[in-house]
Amino acid sequence: MSENIKVVVRCRPMNQTEKERNCQNIVEINEFAVSVTNPSARISQQKKFIFDSVYNMKTDTEVIYDEMCYSLVESTIEGYNGTIFAYGQTGCGKTHTMQGDENFSNSTGIIPKCFDHIFERISMTTNVRYLALVTYLEIYNERIRDLLNKNENTNVINHFLKELPGIGVSVPTLTTQPVVNANQCYDWLHFGNKNRVTAATLMNKNSSRSHTIFTITLEQSPFLNSIGSDAFGGICRGKLSLVDLAGSERQRKTGAQGDRLKEASQINLSLSALGNVISSLVDGKAKHVPFRDSKLTRLLQDSLGGNTKTLMISCISPTDIHYDETISTLRYASRAKNI
Ligand code: ADP
Ligand code: MG
Repeated sequence: MSENIKVVVRCRPMNQTEKERNCQNIVEINEFAVSVTNPSARISQQKKFIFDSVYNMKTDTEVIYDEMCYSLVESTIEGYNGTIFAYGQTGCGKTHTMQGDENFSNSTGIIPKCFDHIFERISMTTNVRYLALVTYLEIYNERIRDLLNKNENTNVINHFLKELPGIGVSVPTLTTQPVVNANQCYDWLHFGNKNRVTAATLMNKNSSRSHTIFTITLEQSPFLNSIGSDAFGGICRGKLSLVDLAGSERQRKTGAQGDRLKEASQINLSLSALGNVISSLVDGKAKHVPFRDSKLTRLLQDSLGGNTKTLMISCISPTDIHYDETISTLRYASRAKNI
């Protein structure tokens, strides 16, 4: 099982604020290990964590893609499900890792790289016909919002989850868009992002408080006239889920009240539900996998465990002021890794 679940850590560079505040770098990276020094301990105290890989501030997303995402995406093209998560404190690089920075053309994220990879592979395949479909949703306060539906900014739609035997959990009211090339995928990603920002402004909410899931489903069927290729008969379907999780920071510090407090407890609920699901999958012995505990885990039920592949990228800051959050991110990531 743990062969199918990989956990890596990515440490971002120090940002301007951290430089101005003369922050200390407390993170040391050595191939598979990350060691963090406790800045308030009088005697030097380091905590060490081991993962499938650890990436330092100089590593490009491209390297992470080639080492960790490539084979996962290949398997979704072959008909398996796969999930890539970005986890961590707000400002540590989840969106940078998943989407890239729009202003810097040289730092493309994992999601656009998946688009390129998938359609390059499809264009090279001759005896199989592919149908590619995308969806993009947001989970905010345990409610699903369809980011590909413009009207949802003004009309609140109650999306329900439906369990389809043999297929998994689906959201029948969600917009599903067919795509035939990578450019159409970029367009839907941008459309959804714009929609998300507009809604966030209208509802006065903070987008770091919601989870987003972009999915690409690939249905393949053999061309009927190609000899021998229709041995399996029916349609084979693989789904890739690309998840940018809500910020993992604890809300106590910010003195959250009212709506903010409700948000915080819902985020903690779904992140801890996800942690519980992954650790019980990694454990292998657990009889019950608690998928039903949150919308996030219910939606991903067919994409975690079994013969699906999962990659968790845990993003951290290198500096002393974020020591507590960094340790808590590394602990969360460690639970997903059975060593
Ligand atoms: P999050 O989505 O986790 O809140 P972001 O991805 O928005 O964080 O990152 C916050 C800022 O840090 C952005 O300006 C981003 O460009 C920058 N950043 C994050 N990770 C890296 C990295 N590995 N290299 C360079 N800049 C980064
Ligand atoms: Mg973000």
